[in-house]
Amino acid sequence: MLMTGKEYLESIRDGRRVYLGGDLVDDVTTHPAFRNAARSFAMIYDRKRAPENRDVMTFEEEGDTYSSYFLLPRTREDLQRRFETHRRIASWTHGLLGRSPDNFPSYVSGLVMDPAMFDDIRPGFGDNMRNYYEHMRKDDIFASHTVTNPQGWRNLAPGEGPKRTPTTLRVVAEDDQGVTINGLKMLGTSSAFCHETWCGNLQPVAPDQAAESITCAVPLNAPGVSIWSRKSYEASATSEFDNPLASRFDENDSAVLFENVKVPWERIFCHNNVEMTRAIYMRTPGHAMANHQANIRFLEKLKLIVGIARKLADLNNVTHIPAVQFTLGQLAAMEATLEGLLMGAINCGEEQVAGFHTVNRRYVYGALHWCTNHHSEICDTVRELMGAGVFQMPADVSVLRDAKLSKTFETYWSVPGQTAKDRMKLFKLAWDLLGSDFAGRHMQYEKFYAGPSFVMNMYSYLTGPWHEWTGSVDDLMASYDVPEQQ
Ligand SMILES: Cc1cc2nc3c(=O)[nH]c(=O)nc-3n(C[C@H](O)[C@H](O)[C@H](O)COP(=O)(O)OP(=O)(O)OC[C@H]3O[C@@H](n4cnc5c(N)ncnc54)[C@H](O)[C@@H]3O)c2cc1C
Repeated sequence: MLMTGKEYLESIRDGRRVYLGGDLVDDVTTHPAFRNAARSFAMIYDRKRAPENRDVMTFEEEGDTYSSYFLLPRTREDLQRRFETHRRIASWTHGLLGRSPDNFPSYVSGLVMDPAMFDDIRPGFGDNMRNYYEHMRKDDIFASHTVTNPQGWRNLAPGEGPKRTPTTLRVVAEDDQGVTINGLKMLGTSSAFCHETWCGNLQPVAPDQAAESITCAVPLNAPGVSIWSRKSYEASATSEFDNPLASRFDENDSAVLFENVKVPWERIFCHNNVEMTRAIYMRTPGHAMANHQANIRFLEKLKLIVGIARKLADLNNVTHIPAVQFTLGQLAAMEATLEGLLMGAINCGEEQVAGFHTVNRRYVYGALHWCTNHHSEICDTVRELMGAGVFQMPADVSVLRDAKLSKTFETYWSVPGQTAKDRMKLFKLAWDLLGSDFAGRHMQYEKFYAGPSFVMNMYSYLTGPWHEWTGSVDDLMASYDVPEQQ
């Protein structure tokens, strides 16, 4: 079933508990801190089933129609189709919704390729994985993932400081029906808008923390679940004109609290296994497929950033200056580098699990590393092109609604070929992307959404063909020896 946007909005009016500061939000689809972002997600649901997108963005299997981000790739063409599906979703939201409905299905599509691995954790978990994938694609489920722990959760070295307080999500009871979980999970981007969250661990879990290795899926309106939102940038957006991005694309991040929540065995995928709670993502293509989606999303955002860079240079009448062209050329080269890496990931696919053709992990991790390490630098370059423009503009759009002030503004702030209003409009957009509170959150998001930057290095270290590289050094060294005395 492919949900319409309206059905999606209806489906998240489900009694979930979302806290915004001290307020309990009763309906995120109508609340001023959330409603426009909810509509942006609804727009994705509508557009992916629209006639002009349906051929690429949906597929049929045994008479049912599903979103293409659930397609299990077996050929290069399948990878291309998944790429185009992610790309269209990212282009509709300019890459600003990081955890869009196509993100977590990419994890699940990779995980379901190896049910035997789950059965090795505990017999029956393989079926749980298969059934969860079926449920997600059949019901068009939007899921977040909360696979990191609250900061400060680590064990200190023995003898150092007080013992850790057990506030991180863990199993506190177990019976024939399932387990009871209690504690906090981080950081549920989009959770306020999702149907379910997948709890697990991408960080290592210590041997004495087996109860924390629980990996399960939980409806976000289940008894005992509450969603604790950070500050909403949508709520503080002055208007669409002043904050064109924060007002529409604030996907929200929240801590998700589980207070004695019952989880049935059917929705449990790992339990009491500190190694596998983390390994499931890397031993299947799940982690690479989800981060490939994230890279495609980044590419669409980069196109917006580069487009704004050029528009700012034109606005400031500096595009003809060679030094500015040099800067724009550098940005264009960076965009091409990333696009090339993503093409490589689908053109040089691999068979990590027999029978499936999945993205090239080295190129996915190379691109992820590149994005994490270059986003701030790129934004800084474009801010330099912006100059002081945004601060030369009036405080907000109300000046344009006042006939007298608006006339004065046009007289003194316009430049040949550009109205003052158009200048203000572009500067406000650029600031929302690069300088506002919303932009600041994006800076942190790009640095951390896939884990801290040192972890990005590890992904590339672990997937590098070191034998091939050291082998060529060995071959070279074997080709000569101590020369005989002449
Ligand atoms: C906006 C945003 C959205 C996010 N969305 C999600 C989401 O949807 N789902 C999800 O599960 N997670 C999400 N995350 C969480 C993200 O995965 C974590 O922020 C990330 O794993 C870093 O963990 P931490 O924030 O606990 O930082 P910490 O682990 O506390 O690290 C703090 C600092 O210490 C450094 N540090 C820590 N350990 C080491 C080490 N061994 N070596 C070197 N340096 C070290 C880190 O590099 C970092 O600079 C999101 C984060 C942000 C900022």
